Amino acid sequence: MPACLHGIGVSRGCAIGNTYHLVRNQPEVTEYAIPPKLIDDEVTRFEAALAQARQQLRDIRERVAHGVPAEVTSFIDAHLLMLDDPTLVDAPIRTIQLQGCNAEWALKLQRDLVVQVFEEMDDPYLRARKDDVDHVVRRVQGILLADEPNVDMMASRLEGRVIVADDLTPADTLVMQHQGVAAFVTEYGGPLSHTAILARNLGIPAVVGVRHARRLLAEDEPIIVDGQFGVVLAELDDGVLAHYRRRQKDEQRSRHELVKLKRQSAVTRDAVSIGLHANIELPEDAPAAKEVAVDGVGLYRTEFLFMNRPDVPDEEEHLASYLHVINTLGERPITIRTADLGADKQVDGGRRGPVATNPALGLRGIRLCLKDQDLFRPQLRAILRASHFGQVRMMIPMLSTTHEVAQVLRLVDETKRELRARGQAFDEHLPVGGMIEVPAAAVCAGQFARQLDFFSIGTNDLIQYSLAIDRIDDEVNYLYDPLHPAVLQLISMVIRAGRKAGIPVTLCGEMAGDPRYTRLLLGLGLAHFSMHPNSVLEVKRMVLDADAARLAEQVDRILRTAQPERQAQLLADLTGT
Ligand code: PEP
Ligand code: MG
Repeated sequence: MPACLHGIGVSRGCAIGNTYHLVRNQPEVTEYAIPPKLIDDEVTRFEAALAQARQQLRDIRERVAHGVPAEVTSFIDAHLLMLDDPTLVDAPIRTIQLQGCNAEWALKLQRDLVVQVFEEMDDPYLRARKDDVDHVVRRVQGILLADEPNVDMMASRLEGRVIVADDLTPADTLVMQHQGVAAFVTEYGGPLSHTAILARNLGIPAVVGVRHARRLLAEDEPIIVDGQFGVVLAELDDGVLAHYRRRQKDEQRSRHELVKLKRQSAVTRDAVSIGLHANIELPEDAPAAKEVAVDGVGLYRTEFLFMNRPDVPDEEEHLASYLHVINTLGERPITIRTADLGADKQVDGGRRGPVATNPALGLRGIRLCLKDQDLFRPQLRAILRASHFGQVRMMIPMLSTTHEVAQVLRLVDETKRELRARGQAFDEHLPVGGMIEVPAAAVCAGQFARQLDFFSIGTNDLIQYSLAIDRIDDEVNYLYDPLHPAVLQLISMVIRAGRKAGIPVTLCGEMAGDPRYTRLLLGLGLAHFSMHPNSVLEVKRMVLDADAARLAEQVDRILRTAQPERQAQLLADLTGT
């Protein structure tokens, strides 16, 4: 009987392979004194290590860039920026000079200081960034100590192996993908961790949050990783191996079959047309969206324009990136979301202000934009101007009151007057929609529908806020449950409110791209799904196979079921979870 470890399946597919333990504890750093006359040499040694770390990351970026989505390589760029940040560069140099200590020790002191500040801030976003700092520091210390396990050098041993690690750096994940690893198992991380996002985008099966995996799984032991169900199997017998080999073959066959669906319309068996749209984060993602999503871009996240820079983008910069996407997508509609900064999407530029005690409930999304109109107005002008060149829709994130919508609509009117005075063209009827991702907005969706041209349900946040679960906190992500009856009721309320008001409703959270939930969402009456381009064809296959009317009856029965256990069982049957 195989041993079974449980974690969170974050990237579907199953893999069979022998384990490879990646030990990535903080390197043992000790302090020693540097004689005054050698201090300059020590500084030079530190700078050389930083330069080497930068070069390593650039090499990785170059080598893997081909065919990898831009959002994947942007993780590497973030680490490169850190290697130029005065906090990690200047401060250790001052410590070497003032304390006469070795470079590794100076870097360690600085790392401890930075991490302590993060921990005291209790800011979930910065907690995630703390890991980035550790990844970068570890790389530099590894170079200084010349003992970093270099995944590049292990190349020949990694092919076909299942990497078992505490956590993975974005750079290592990319290199390993390049070297043909079979799967990832990590002890930490949740569905929104770096490893999870990268593994999904790269199509590598992964299970995260498998506590004590390195202790429980032996080195070079054959195991099975089931990324769909979040299970890792060890001590395999022939029966289990045969079962999973069959599953792998089926998955391979089904991937080939999917490509054939590219040009097929997404229509259910009972002739209901479903819109399948793509979520994009960077203009460079537009070609992948065009490849699979005939219905265009349902969510264009524009936060990237604000990231990793000291200032805010101006109107022309906004416009250039929107036109880039419009030029790629041609006639297809593009929904541009106004900046959703704050909480899990902090910016480096001076717009952050004091760190809130609870950033997810603080000045984020539309709240920040309405408060800081110097940041918001250039974006409004650019979206309006872009609407002259393509089918553009504007979408407002994080709405919690109808007053916010009224304020935005007033600003849009003012902006239109400005553009007319300037003689610049725009679509007079630019549709303005809102993201419904705060439970209050879902409950009052009927009122919002009077002011808005469309809704898009942001389940990533809707789940976080309804269930009071920080979406990036590892400790509570076992409670992050898209199938919670309260979440389903809220989604249903929004869809019904949209239908009653005659406005389209899209769902653009991660749920939309998970084929396990397609039947459920169809049954709830959803007609527009927006997701990562990688997921479009799998969701389309589910749509083609579905009978919307029957699913509606089935889901209606499930929502009415009073007994929680019975309801959970029915949902599990419907979603295959
Ligand atoms: C959401 O909240 O579901 C969503 C799509 O927005 P984001 O993930 O960018 O917050
Ligand atoms: Mg959101």
